[in-house]
Amino acid sequence: MNKALNELTIVEAGRALRAHECTVRELWDACAGAAQAKNPELNAYLELFDADSAAIDAAQRRIDDDGEAAPMLCGIPLAVKDNILIQGRIASAASKMLEGYMATYDATVVRKLKEAGALFLGRTNMDEFAMGSSTEHSAFGHTKNPLDPTRVPGGSSGGSAAAVAAHMCIAALGSDTGGSIRQPASHTGLVGLKPTYGAVSRSGLIALGSSLDQIGPLTKSVEDAHLIFEAIRGEDTLDSTTIPDGLYPLVREEESLRIGVPRHLVEQEGLDPELKSLFDATCARLADASHTLVDIELPTSSSALAAYYVIMPAEVSTNLARLDGIRYGLAGRGAALLDDYLESRSEGFGPETRRRILLGTFVLSSGYIDAYYHKARAARGALRHDYARAFEQCDVIAFPTTTAPAFRFGEKSHDPLSMYLEDVFTVTANLTGMPALSVPMGTVEGLPAGFHLTAPHQGEARLFATARIVEKLPRA
Ligand code: GLN
Repeated sequence: MNKALNELTIVEAGRALRAHECTVRELWDACAGAAQAKNPELNAYLELFDADSAAIDAAQRRIDDDGEAAPMLCGIPLAVKDNILIQGRIASAASKMLEGYMATYDATVVRKLKEAGALFLGRTNMDEFAMGSSTEHSAFGHTKNPLDPTRVPGGSSGGSAAAVAAHMCIAALGSDTGGSIRQPASHTGLVGLKPTYGAVSRSGLIALGSSLDQIGPLTKSVEDAHLIFEAIRGEDTLDSTTIPDGLYPLVREEESLRIGVPRHLVEQEGLDPELKSLFDATCARLADASHTLVDIELPTSSSALAAYYVIMPAEVSTNLARLDGIRYGLAGRGAALLDDYLESRSEGFGPETRRRILLGTFVLSSGYIDAYYHKARAARGALRHDYARAFEQCDVIAFPTTTAPAFRFGEKSHDPLSMYLEDVFTVTANLTGMPALSVPMGTVEGLPAGFHLTAPHQGEARLFATARIVEKLPRA
C-alpha cells in the first residue's frame, strides 16, 4: 500500500484492518500524529483527545474475532464538530458562551458510532453556533484551508473539513443548517452530505435552526459518506421528527439518470466563469455517459436565500434564548437582574451571533411577523412545491455547490451580506428538507469545487448512485 494510514478512506482502512496490514492502534497513531503535527498551523481541532486504550483494544478484538462481520467503522478514528455532544467532553459550539460546557450524555449519532466501534480523535472548530460560511466566526481563531492556508476552509463545519482534507482523521461529522457540510466539502475537495430532514436524529446536536438542522458526514469518498449515513440514521425516541425506520425506502440504484439542471440558476450573475465551465463540462460528461440532462425551472429559488435569512435567525433567536447566564452559559453578574442578562449575552456571544439574534427577534416581533416571518414561510412552501414539480421530470437536480472556490481570509467577514450570498445554492435543501450532497468535480485555478446534487425526500440512495458516477468521471 503506498498511501500513509491516515490518508486512507474508511473502506480502505477497514480492509487494511481486516487483512491485518495494520492494527487499530497504528491507524489511531497515524491520525493522531498527523493531527498533532498539523493542528498548530491549521487550527482544525479545538481539542485533541488522548488515546482511549480500552476503546482501541476493544475495536481490535472485535475485528480479530468477527472479521468481515465487524462494522466497517470499527476502529476508524473520526473527528466531531464542536456542537455535537460526546459524554464527558466539552462541547462549546466554538462560543465563549459554552467554553467550559461539559456534555452529560452522548448525541444519538455519537452513541451509534461508538456502538459501531468508531473512535473519536477530537472536537473540531466551527463558526460560533454554526453561523457562518468560513469558520472565521469562531471564538477560538480561524481554521485554515489545508489546500491553501491563505484561504478559508468554508464553514461552518470548516474544522471538520480541514481535519479530513489534511488527513488528520479518516472522516468527520458536521452539521448543516444552510450548507455547513456541503460548502466546506466543496472548498476542501471532499464529499459532504446533508441528509433528509428527520433521517438522522438531532438529539445531542446544539440546536441552531431546528426545522433546518441535520448532522451528516464529511468524507474522502462517496462510499464513505454512504457508510456513515447508514450508521447514524434511524428513528430515535429522543427526536420526534425522525422518520420511522419502516418508512425508509430500500436502496434502489438507477442505471440511467435524468439530471435536472436549472439553467437560470447556473447562468446567474456572480458565478465564477471558470467554475461554471467546470460545471458545464461535468454535465456534458454525464450526458456522454448516457445520462439525460433535463432543463428545469425553479422559479421561486430566487427567494430562497431571503427566506432562509428570515426563518433561520428567527429559530436562532428562540433556541439561543436559554443561554442567558442564569439557566445556561457564561454567567456575567451586574447590579441587577437585567445587567446579568446583558453582561452574559454581550460577553458570551460574538458579533455574528448577536446580529442573528437581533434579526430573528425583529422578524418575529408583533407588527413585523406578517411582513417577514410569515412571508418567508410562504416562500418556503412555494419552494417545496417548485422542487416537487421539478422532480416529476428528473431524478436528481444538479448545480454547483458554491459560486466560486474558497475565498481569502477577511474577504467577506466584514460584509455579512456577501458572506450570506455564499449560501445561495445550498440553503434550498434545508428549506425543503430534501437530501443534498456535494461531490468534487475538479479544480478551478488549483482549488477544488463541488458538484451539488439534490434528490427528493429520502432519496439518499439516488444521491449516492449519482455522486459515485460523478466521482468516477474522467477529469478535464
Ligand atoms: N452559512 C449558513 C449560515 O451562516 C449555514 C450555516 C449552517 O449550515 N450551519 O447560516
